[in-house]
Amino acid sequence: METKKLVIVGSGPAGYTAAIYAARANLEPLLYEGFMSGPSGGQLMTTTEVENYPGFPEGILGPELMTHFRTQSARFGTQILTEDVESVDLSQRPFVVKGSTTTVQAEALIIATGATAKRLEIEGTGDGEFWQRGVTSCAVCDGAAPIFKNRPLFVIGGGDSAVEEAIFLTKYGSRVYLVHRRDQLRASKIMAERALNHPKIEILWNSAIEKVMGDQVVRNILVKNLQTQEVQEREAAGVFFAIGHQPNTQFINGQLETNEAGYIVVRPGTSYTSIEGVFAAGDVQDPTYRQAVTAAGSGCMAALDAERWLSHMGIE
Ligand code: NDP
Repeated sequence: METKKLVIVGSGPAGYTAAIYAARANLEPLLYEGFMSGPSGGQLMTTTEVENYPGFPEGILGPELMTHFRTQSARFGTQILTEDVESVDLSQRPFVVKGSTTTVQAEALIIATGATAKRLEIEGTGDGEFWQRGVTSCAVCDGAAPIFKNRPLFVIGGGDSAVEEAIFLTKYGSRVYLVHRRDQLRASKIMAERALNHPKIEILWNSAIEKVMGDQVVRNILVKNLQTQEVQEREAAGVFFAIGHQPNTQFINGQLETNEAGYIVVRPGTSYTSIEGVFAAGDVQDPTYRQAVTAAGSGCMAALDAERWLSHMGIE
């Protein structure tokens, strides 16, 4: 079995940035970019214009940005495998990384598999329906799209993300509705108060969206009051899921320490995980910021940490 100095799992901003730094440090990284698990490039592949990634004053399309990341990592010699990692064995070094068709050993490992925004199975919101045509899971990424301008927008959820997204969307929508399944927000007190006091935000308590309808884009929704069972049709241009994220750690099978929400725990200010030689970067270890630029920054940290650790271990 081939032994690699460094294997990187994941192909979002964190994984590719780690690869760029590691390849330039002659670590000859092997990067699993995924296949069935989602598009190479991660969450930015499902968004349109990215206007907050520094260096692109006119904005750049998410998929185009990720193509640049990938090309830059390949330019310095990163070996990219288009397959999923199915499991890892971290019980001994070198670690064993089992992909769908290959198995390699890794002296060091960087996990950068990101997190997936949770969605609900509401009629009309699926892929091929109105997903990305008015239904999204990222207000910060998509909120400025012209289809949402001065139109009614609906955010599903009652946590800090939902409130933050609702407040953000007030810059664009005519009115923003927070659709929450209970009669109390989960969000922190300060955030909850901001939502409750915001003149453009209305909270639909004990409510759930039942159906999303439209033509080319979203036009209407059905909202059900879960207490009275009453269903109302409302005009809508956007539906935003903000019900939390699920970090993509299934293939690790509990071998690394995670927090209660499943995010990999790193030593503060570093990318070191609970197992020496395994580093984590990007959204898989970040429940808070979850931005492309912070993911890229943490990918750089992971590559530098891995490089120093390998050198310390005498693996050059
Ligand atoms: P949370 O898990 O805190 O909240 C998820 C929300 O979605 C809850 O209100 C929950 O309802 C609702 N929800 C979950 N599943 C369903 C479902 N199946 N149907 C309907 N509603 C559902 O996730 P967040 O992403 O909001 O926050 C994650 C973490 O990040 C938290 O610790 C948060 O504090 C932090 N954060 C902090 C921010 C800040 O401080 N600025 C900004 C964003 C996040 P219910 O309440 O009924 O369970």
